[in-house]
Parts: sequence; structure tokens; C-alpha cells
Amino acid sequence: MPVRAIAAVLDGFAAPFAHLPLTFDDPGPGEVLVRVAAAPFCSTDWMGWRAMRGKRPPVVLGHTLVGTVERAGDGVDAAAGKRVLVAGTPQCDDCFYCGIGRPDQCSILLDSGDPTVARLDDGREVRAAGGVGAYATHALVSASQVHALPDGLPFETAALTGCGVSTAYGAVEYIAEVRPGQSVAVFGLGHLGLFAVQAAASAGAARVIGIDVHPGRRARALTMGASHVIDAGDDNAVEVVRDLTGGRGADAVIEAAGPEYVARQAVEAARRAGTIVLTGVAHSAHAVLTLPQLAMTVHGKRVLGCQNGQLTPRRDLPRWLGMLERGEIDTQGIVSHAYSLDELDLAARRSLALDDITGLVVPEGPAGAAELLSDNTA
Ligand SMILES: [Zn+2]
Ligand SMILES: [Zn+2]
Repeated sequence: MPVRAIAAVLDGFAAPFAHLPLTFDDPGPGEVLVRVAAAPFCSTDWMGWRAMRGKRPPVVLGHTLVGTVERAGDGVDAAAGKRVLVAGTPQCDDCFYCGIGRPDQCSILLDSGDPTVARLDDGREVRAAGGVGAYATHALVSASQVHALPDGLPFETAALTGCGVSTAYGAVEYIAEVRPGQSVAVFGLGHLGLFAVQAAASAGAARVIGIDVHPGRRARALTMGASHVIDAGDDNAVEVVRDLTGGRGADAVIEAAGPEYVARQAVEAARRAGTIVLTGVAHSAHAVLTLPQLAMTVHGKRVLGCQNGQLTPRRDLPRWLGMLERGEIDTQGIVSHAYSLDELDLAARRSLALDDITGLVVPEGPAGAAELLSDNTA
């Protein structure tokens, strides 16, 4: 039986979202229809909104979500009402990249294009960004992207797993491979940066240096495990990082800000043979990084990219969800604002302007949003 739903549809780039009814078919084999409880809004979403990711309207954005199973297709073991995380990175176990142990580059996500999931009342087919399409009351997704939530983990906390937690913890654990006693510098203290600070501290880093222009974010970093913070606006951050690391530079640097000049600072702030992980994105799909040649060759620095923390979803997501459930990852203050579907334009503008640490989209509407935020401060 088809399901009627409401979505905030991207029907033209950088234009206001259109709030439209749409119809989902019953989930087919290997598919799950999920009722959406919450989804973060992050740079991936405004990149889609601004035509930086090759999206084809009409499309529903939102690259990870949490919610409850409404119906499951044949061959899927997921009972109605089960609470789940839908990850933006699939793990098909069938493509070249899954075969070489790199499901972060799974072809379902990066080669297949966004799947068609529903129809508008005018007959047009609607795609789901990244096979998720979270900014709607419902989402039709592949079972390979669905992970069970621990019973005790609230939706508004679990919603941070598939984007901020996975990218930041993976950047520290799997890409930078931070070891006990090392020094780690984190450029940019938004949700990625604040989770990277925590991941570095929990990996045993002796020095964790957070760099940002916002005093509130620097203060937050100090409560989350940073040993030092630097005002990116006032200080020569690279010099201060060197001063704090025996004059050498940090063993590992996580770039979580975005602008090209910050990526360059991150390379300069790493020691010789140090590792730099780039997680940020600039405001243009055509951004080009210019890196100092001798630092890359003679000084042996390693600059590495990062798609969702180079995670292996079925191995890592249950582990990070467990850490969240046990309170081993601090999420206090990471959700700075909750938005109803009607407020998605505001969420996009505030995300672009860096006004939010994380904006959380709650399709149930303003009442649902208020309830989630009050839960958050409890
Ligand atoms: Zn794959
Ligand atoms: Zn994200």
C-alpha cells in the first residue's frame, strides 16, 4: 500500500525548499520504509543545495537520519517500530571498493547516482540524496544502510552518529591513527572539530590543541578534552602550535574548517613526517589546494582525505553508538538549534553562515523540535 508523506524538496538550486506531498511505494526486496525522527543539517547538505554535488532536482536532501521502521521489504529483518540509524555511507559488500576494504568509497554512494524513491502529485519522480533523503516525514532506504539503535540512546543524540561522530572519530582512529602520547591539532571547532578533539583525547593524545575564532567553541573544546586552545583570529595559530609541540609541529593535524587557507595552515602546523587529515569543504566545488612542495617531499608530510572517517559501517557504527549510549562521547551543546521541515531554508542559511554547531531537522514540526531541545538540556 503506497504511503503519503511530506518532504522539503529541492526543486531548484539555492532556491527555497518546496514543501510538497509525495507518495512512496511499498518497500521492495532489501528496502526499508523509515519514519524520520531527526536528521542533522551539515555542509554535505548545503553543498547539495548549492549545486556542488551534481544533484538532479527534484531531490530530497539530508544524508543521514534516525527514526523508526514503518515497513520492511522481503528479506529484511527489521520489525515495524524498531528504532534505527540510516547511515549516509552504504556497505554493499559487492563493489570494487567494498572488496578492497574501503566501503567509505562504496560505488552505491559515489558511482550509482541518487535513487528514485517517490513521486510528486504532478507525476515527477523524486530522488533521495545519497540514498537517504532525510528531510521528509518518511524515507525509503536500502537495508544495507540501516543499523539498530541501542534502546537507551535518545534520537537527538543518535542523530549525530552518521555524520559528525563517524567522520571525526574515523579521521582520528583510522586515518591519522593517533597513538597515546602524541600531539594533535584540530583546526575548526564545529561538530567535526569538537568530536575530533574528543576522539584524540580518548586515543590518549598528550596534547590536543583546538583552533577556532569563536570563544564559545574554544570553551566547549576545553571541556571536551582539549589541553590548549588558540584564537584563530588573533594569534598566529601555526606558530603557537609549534611552540606547544617542542618547536616541531603536531604529530597529527585534523582540518575541520573548510577554507583553502586553513588546509594550508594545517599542513604547516604538522611536524616533519606528520599526518594531516582534510575533512573540511570550502564554499566552492572548484576549490583548489596549494601546498608547499618541500613540506610534501623533503619533509615527508602525509596529506590524506576523509570521506565519513573512512569507516566500515557495520564494524564501526554499532561501536560508536555504544560509546554514545554509555556517555563516552559528550554531545552536550553540539545541537545548537532544532528546525521543523518548514524551517529548512533557515537551517541551510545558518549552516552556511556557521551560526550552528549542528542544526537538527525534526520533521514532526515545531512542537517536536521544542520537545527534543528540552530533552537535550535535561
Ligand atoms: Zn560497495
Ligand atoms: Zn554531514
